[in-house]
Amino acid sequence: MIAFKSIEGFETVPFRNNEGISHELTQRLLERGNEYGLGAIFPFCVEKIVVADWVSLKCRYGCSKYGTSWCCPPATPDTDKARAILGEYSLALLLVGVQRCADFHLNTAKKRTNQVRYWKGTISLERQLFLEGYYKAFSLVSGSCALCKECAYPKACRFPMEKRPTIESFSIDVIGTLQNLGTTSKVAKDRRNAFNYYGVILLE
Ligand code: SF4
Repeated sequence: MIAFKSIEGFETVPFRNNEGISHELTQRLLERGNEYGLGAIFPFCVEKIVVADWVSLKCRYGCSKYGTSWCCPPATPDTDKARAILGEYSLALLLVGVQRCADFHLNTAKKRTNQVRYWKGTISLERQLFLEGYYKAFSLVSGSCALCKECAYPKACRFPMEKRPTIESFSIDVIGTLQNLGTTSKVAKDRRNAFNYYGVILLE
């Protein structure tokens, strides 16, 4: 093993791989996530993630974000590439939040405020994990990017450091994955009802 000298006065942490995640760190992440509206964080095996070709149909047909955002198809990896990328990970974190926003289908300030809060929270946790030594940490975020009122796509992204693909853009069957994890989610039949949102941080 090659040993490098650390520079005096600077705190460093080892890069981590195949170490799992401690309960203590998960709790610290949750405390931070709470500030952004996240209610729960669960570590889980990546092999539980269900990737399905039909998910891309839902993006391609019936979603107004298709072809209009850097974080959605076709700007994001296709299904085969997404499968290959997920195959390079073994552990991930499921992020769960609850939202009540009757405007969820509109591009209103309220809807975007909620979404930006959650989006920034996810990126912030990913950054924290990197600083803890999880150098592969990468977020798949819920919903679509709302950092700008209108996405600059296909021109250059205005906030590339915070640009991440959405969980659905990776052809992830979120409901199938939840069922694989022994839980489920309900359909909010009335737009005033509360609903769950989900994100994933691929860890190691
Ligand atoms: S930050 Fe703005 S330009 Fe970049 S992906 Fe998000 S909405 Fe589009």
